[in-house]
Amino acid sequence: MSNLGVYIQVPFCQTKCTYCNFHTGVVSAGRFAPYADAVCREIANHRQLLASAGVTIAPSVESLAQSVDTVYIGGGTPSLLEPVLLTTMLQALYANFQCALTEVTLEADPETIDAEKAAQWTAAGFNRISFGTQSFVDEELKAAGRMHRREDIYRAVPILRAAGIRNISFDLIAGLPKQTHASWQQSLREAIALSPEHISIYMMEIDEGSRLGLEVLQSGSRYSAREIPSEEAMAEFYELAQAKLKSAGYGQYEISNWAKPGFESRHNLKYWQREPYLGFGAGAHSFSGTQRWANRHDAAAYVAAISEGKSAVESADTLTQSLALEEEFFLGLRKLSGIDLSRLEREYGVNLREKVGELASRGMVQKQGDIVCIPAGKLSVSSEIIVELLRSV
Ligand code: SF4
Repeated sequence: MSNLGVYIQVPFCQTKCTYCNFHTGVVSAGRFAPYADAVCREIANHRQLLASAGVTIAPSVESLAQSVDTVYIGGGTPSLLEPVLLTTMLQALYANFQCALTEVTLEADPETIDAEKAAQWTAAGFNRISFGTQSFVDEELKAAGRMHRREDIYRAVPILRAAGIRNISFDLIAGLPKQTHASWQQSLREAIALSPEHISIYMMEIDEGSRLGLEVLQSGSRYSAREIPSEEAMAEFYELAQAKLKSAGYGQYEISNWAKPGFESRHNLKYWQREPYLGFGAGAHSFSGTQRWANRHDAAAYVAAISEGKSAVESADTLTQSLALEEEFFLGLRKLSGIDLSRLEREYGVNLREKVGELASRGMVQKQGDIVCIPAGKLSVSSEIIVELLRSV
């Protein structure tokens, strides 16, 4: 079994982007320090807090706590916090877990980065920045309600490099309002030219959880809702990204993720490989191998609970065999390296060979020995393929 991953959620942003469906809030800076303090307390007291919420950490995971190797501080916009607060949270981890850290990621938005902060991040131990680029086209950034502009990206990347960050990941969004074939090409071209080690491409999601999504569903026109690329255009953008990134030397290792060799995200791979991780902070999720649990989303309620010495866990579920198998498919087949058929058959007592053979004959999956994966060209219909597989068990 691998080492444990730790995720820390910082649910604060400067403004709310129009497309955002995350549980994040715009709050005064005065709330950052009490929040960081609550996270540190939750880390220090996690065993008692979890026990009081009815979550038992299996001995196998408990022993993993001896060896945390990846940390990811995400949000929200954690780079908004004073570096000293981020440092304090990392120090709480060092004090309460055995850490042999190989990958320590901070999500940072371009407009929040300056040389002094970046130097303090590297001094604290961050060695990877997940950089909220989203687009290189100001019109798209503006329409999406982002705070940064193209020039902020060009200002921030050299600052990160000068501070010693050797692992930068860019996020790009396919399907932003006002995005065209030409502007998407421009974002891809400029992203590749800056040579980050890792690139994530997310497809715009339209749901009622965001202001933009609600506007689209109600056929409104605010937030440039009528200028969202069609689904066909988005599929083309995705395929274009696959081709451009491949020819630029980035290997696709997951539906939304590409990396230069050796720079695949070790932390995020734990999610898709169903390896245990602990989450701290408001809305953070955790997984022990058999149980999943989540903290309450509301940051003020989270801080209040932890300050009173109470658990912030609001839901905890023990996975049934069939749910676990479903996860194996939905998470494992996101990876281009696929799933191990014989392990699944052994662990779940299912027979998948016939269905896999049929899907392989239609080119929907590839099978090499016991390893089954969805080929890169079929990733856009991966959900349909997985549903077919699930129906066969
Ligand atoms: S910065 Fe990210 S988390 Fe914050 S509002 Fe924008 S999309 Fe949401």
